[in-house]
Amino acid sequence: MPVSTEGCVFNSEVFHSSVLVRTCRNRLRVSFYVFMKRQGSGGGAPVVTPIGSRDVYVGFCHIKQSSSYRSSCAQRIAQNLSSLGVPEDKQPSVLEKIFELVDVSVSPDQAILVSMWFYNHVPVDVQLSPPIARFVPATRSSIVGLLQVRVDSGLIIQTPSCVICDEDFADQLMITRMPCAHHYHTHCIVRWLEINHMCPLCRFPMPTVEAAEP
Ligand SMILES: [Zn+2]
Ligand SMILES: [Zn+2]
Repeated sequence: MPVSTEGCVFNSEVFHSSVLVRTCRNRLRVSFYVFMKRQGSGGGAPVVTPIGSRDVYVGFCHIKQSSSYRSSCAQRIAQNLSSLGVPEDKQPSVLEKIFELVDVSVSPDQAILVSMWFYNHVPVDVQLSPPIARFVPATRSSIVGLLQVRVDSGLIIQTPSCVICDEDFADQLMITRMPCAHHYHTHCIVRWLEINHMCPLCRFPMPTVEAAEP
C-alpha cells in the first residue's frame, strides 16, 4: 500500500524492508559495490560502469569475539570478492581494511560499505565507509522528498538497471530519480542514502543538514 508523504509516494513494503535490516540487532551488513572506470572516447570524461554489488551479513558480536568465526567470515567475504572480479592477490588488503573497521565499529546499525573502482579489471581505488562517518547520511527529508518516476521504454533504454543491486528495471512500475538524474530502485537508494549522502554513480551530494524549521 503506497504511503504519501509530502507529495511523494513510497511503497511502504519496500520502505519497511530497509527498516527491518536496521532493527536486526546483531547482524552487521558489509556491502560491496564495484564500478569499472574506462577512458572516455576522445579523451572525454572517464566512463563509469557498474559491475556488481553484494551484501554479506556477519554476526556482529560473534565476529568481534571468535577468531574461528572471523576466519569463516573472511572466507565468505573473499568468495564474494572473487565473484565480483577482485584478483586474489588484492583481496588480503581489502579484508584487512574491513576487519579494521569491524574492530572499531560499536554498533551493527551502521553498515560497512566497500566501494571498489576498477580500471581495466585492476582495482585502483577501494573506499570503505568508516564507522564514524566519513560517509555522512542524507537528511531524512531529502530522502523522503526524492522524485518517484514511472518506468517507461525511454527510461529503460537509457538506464536498464539499478547499479546498486544490478537488477533490471523492466518489471518495476515506479523508481527513484536523484537530482543528478540517476535512477535507482527506491529501496536501494533509500538504504544507500541512509548511510552515504552521495549518488553512487556521480557522487552528487544530497543535503546532510536539515533545513531550519520555518
Ligand atoms: Zn536496486
Ligand atoms: Zn548521480
